[in-house]
This record gives sequence, C-alpha cells and structure tokens, in this order.
Amino acid sequence: MEKPKKLRAALLSSPGLGHLIPVIELGKRLVADHSFEATVFVLPLQASRAEAEIIESAMAPKLLDVVELPPPDLSAAGLGPDASMAMRLVVMMREARPAFRSALAAMEAQPDVLIVDLFGAEYLCIGDELGIPKYVFVPSNAWFLALLLHSPTLDKEVKGEYVDQTEPLKIPGCKPVRPEDVVDPMLDRSDQQYREFVQHAGEIPMGDGILLNVWEDLQAETLAALKNEEFLGRVVNGPIYTVGPLTRPVRPAILGKELLDWLDKQPSESVMFVSFGSGGTMSAEQLAELAWGLELSQQRFIWVLRQPAVKSLDGSFFDVGKGVAGDEALSFLPSGFKTRTRDIGFILPSWASQVEILSHPSVGGFLSHCGWNSTLESIANGVPMIAWPLYAEQRLNATLLSEEIGVAVRPKVLPSKKIVGREEIEKLVRTVMVEEEGHALRARARDLKSSAQKAMARGGSSYESLCKMKEDCQMRIRWIKQAH
Ligand code: UDP
Repeated sequence: MEKPKKLRAALLSSPGLGHLIPVIELGKRLVADHSFEATVFVLPLQASRAEAEIIESAMAPKLLDVVELPPPDLSAAGLGPDASMAMRLVVMMREARPAFRSALAAMEAQPDVLIVDLFGAEYLCIGDELGIPKYVFVPSNAWFLALLLHSPTLDKEVKGEYVDQTEPLKIPGCKPVRPEDVVDPMLDRSDQQYREFVQHAGEIPMGDGILLNVWEDLQAETLAALKNEEFLGRVVNGPIYTVGPLTRPVRPAILGKELLDWLDKQPSESVMFVSFGSGGTMSAEQLAELAWGLELSQQRFIWVLRQPAVKSLDGSFFDVGKGVAGDEALSFLPSGFKTRTRDIGFILPSWASQVEILSHPSVGGFLSHCGWNSTLESIANGVPMIAWPLYAEQRLNATLLSEEIGVAVRPKVLPSKKIVGREEIEKLVRTVMVEEEGHALRARARDLKSSAQKAMARGGSSYESLCKMKEDCQMRIRWIKQAH
C-alpha cells in the first residue's frame, strides 16, 4: 500500500538564538514525532560561531533542512544607530521578505504549512498567497502572550504611559501586570517599537493558531483565560497549542575537558551557574558588585562573563558568540577576585554550553536574566533560579517565576544607585544554595521537571497538542482544496 504523503512544514525563525533554538527544536519534534518533513529558514544575526554550532547540531542527526537566508540590506530602512534590539529585529524581518519568497520558490516542492515565529506575523499573508495553513510560534509564555494580545485594547483604554499607571494593567482572566513589569516595547508609547508591538499583536491572530513554548500544567489558569470566549472570540481566531518545553537536547561531549573535570569534582548541587543569555550585559559597577556578592556568598559558581554594557542591557545581542574576547571583561572585576575565588569559581568568557552545564548534577542554582529559553532549560533540569531580568519580556518572566510558578527568588534593586548590591546578591545566592527556602524552590523545580517530561512524552499534553495541530492542518488543507 502506498504510504500517506508527509506534510511538509516551512518554519521561519526570527534572528537571534532565543528564536532559532526553539524553532529548530519545534521542527525536530514535528519530524521525529509527527511524521512531518521540515525546512527551517534562518535569518542569521551575524555569522556567529554560536549560530553556526546550533545550525550544525540541528543536522546531527539530520532530521530537517536548514536554509540560511541572505542578510537583508538595511541601509535604506532608516534605522538610527541607537535603534533598539526589537526595532532592528522587526526591520530585519520586514526587509527579508523577498529573500524568503525566493527561498520558498526554490524549494523542491511547495510546503503544506507555514509556521513563523513571533516577529514573523507579517509573513502570514505568504501562507494565504500559497493557499496553505499558517501558524505563529510564540517562543515565550502564556502571560506574555496574554499581554501581547491584549495590548491593542490597552492601547485604546489606557491614557498616558503604562509605566506611570498607579494600578496594575488588567488582562481578562489573567494576573494583572504591574506597570514596572511591562515588556520593553511598552516602556515608551511614543517610540516606534511600541507601534510595531501593537501592530504585531493585531496580526498574530490572523494565523490559524498559535503555538506556545509552555506546557499545560505550567500555566493552566492563564491558558484557560486565553482559551476563554473573551480572548478566543474577540482576539484569537484559531486554537492555542501548548507545545513545550522545547529545549535543546543535552550533549555532554561538548563541555570542554577542563570544565567537565572541574564540575565532576564539585559536590552535588553545589554550583551556582551565572549567565545572562545570548546578549545580556550590565554596567561596570553592577558587574563588580555581582563579583563581590558571589565571593561573599562563599558558594561555588560558574560565571559566563561579558564586557560591561556601554549603552543597553541587551548590548551584545548582535555580536555574542562571535568569539568576542570575554577575557577583556576580567579587567572589570575587583582586584584579586580571580585569585581569591580560584578554588570555588570557574569563569567562562562570553559564551557557554548552557544546557550541558545546567544538566550537570553539580549545578544547584541558576542566576539568570530569565530569557524564556533559559528559564525552560533551568526548569527542565530541576534547577531553581535567581531571577535577574534585563530586557525584552524578562521582568514579566521574573515575576511569573518568583510569584506564581515558585522556582525563583528575585533581588531587590538599591533605589539610590539602581543596582543590586553585593549584600543582596550574597544573601540570595545563599538562599538558593543552602537555606531552607532554596530547598523548597528546588523541590518545586524538580516537580516541574517531571511534569515537563510527562508533557513532552508520547500521550503527554504537549505531544497531544502537536497531534491536534497536525489534524487541524490536514483539515484546513482539505477545506482549501475543496474551495478550489
Ligand atoms: N545560550 C547558550 N550559551 C550562552 C548563552 C545562551 O547556550 O552562553 C543559549 C541558552 O541556552 C538559550 C539561548 O541561548 O537556549 C538564549 O535564549 P533566552 O531565551 O534564554 O535568552 P535571549 O538570549 O534570547 O535573551
């Protein structure tokens, strides 16, 4: 008997490792568990080592094809030198549309379904042009999605800046959002990136559904609110599919020998991993204070050290992993720090094999910027966190982790200096690593680890969600055929 034809998915990732990593993992799941064929289209940020390594790892074993789109010419796009990371991503995506169309046309056969990630909502019309179903993958959590989808309403109803509101922002059925937790594009309503954000929010529901990188049990209430009439009827056309946690598989072999030997020698759950994602940086003053805090805590640590920020906290987003000499950052550490902490600390310049470190049994805490991928990687390994948000939707994530999910503590910022002081850092590192509260956070993280594993396994909620998405896709393909 002839085998049924496989559905061919075209997935488009926005620039940046925080997008590329989960989009590739989604593609792999579709192929490995749901009999799709998949091609991931990638818009490289910079030809970085880290990006190349992630693309290479997607091909071993080769489950899917990866097509790198040529970097768009941004010279006529009117981006100023101070353009925010979000604006640069929006413009890169916009300008890459012709290249994506050509790349699709060059495929051996037309795709049956289009999946674009967060910054790709403007590509949904290409799905319509091709007459195929189209979905949006949001590589973040349900609370963020609720805020995003509700932002056009907030835009109409709230007067003045969100950050100046005296009451939290209400979202139907969800925990309200404190003004200080709004996502970066909502910080200044006169900025172009705010208009883009609200416009995106209006475009995302044009898809045939939304795929979200969480699992049902992690955010059951917020997901229920999103599936409610008030959201579904008015805002979202198609279903919301919870398909996470999509995290990279652990490949212990890629940890360097020196680091692996060091980790192997440390007691179980005794090391705090300190890292701020693919682009996070901090001021020189904050960097020094963090060093003091780690040293005072007398706890073991691995620190992915980056040069201090010159302007923004996402300062190295566009060049991290290019082999930037992280060693230069050493000069910003307090004098003698490296010598005094040589028995308890391990400093890695600029970039690390994060999932491999988090999965090592010696690691017992993660001081993180709360990027959603880092968050999922921590939870998937049962590691509690110190939530230290820097940019994008990370303040929202930090509140979610510390006040709702219960796997993190959050440092208090010194109002006078707008930095986190060394005593606070010392206290929180000790809280997570040795205090009773830390044990409770770890127990919660472990529970979530097993709940995440169940969700991803055959028959689990995220597995089933992708089955439903496939059925929906097949049904839409039939409708489209019938209509022609
Ligand atoms: N990452 C890594 N090594 C590093 C820094 C980051 O492997 O030194 C990976 C990390 O594991 C995660 C991704 O890069 O998968 C960063 O995504 P996230 O959403 O956490 O933050 P972003 O960098 O997008 O702010």
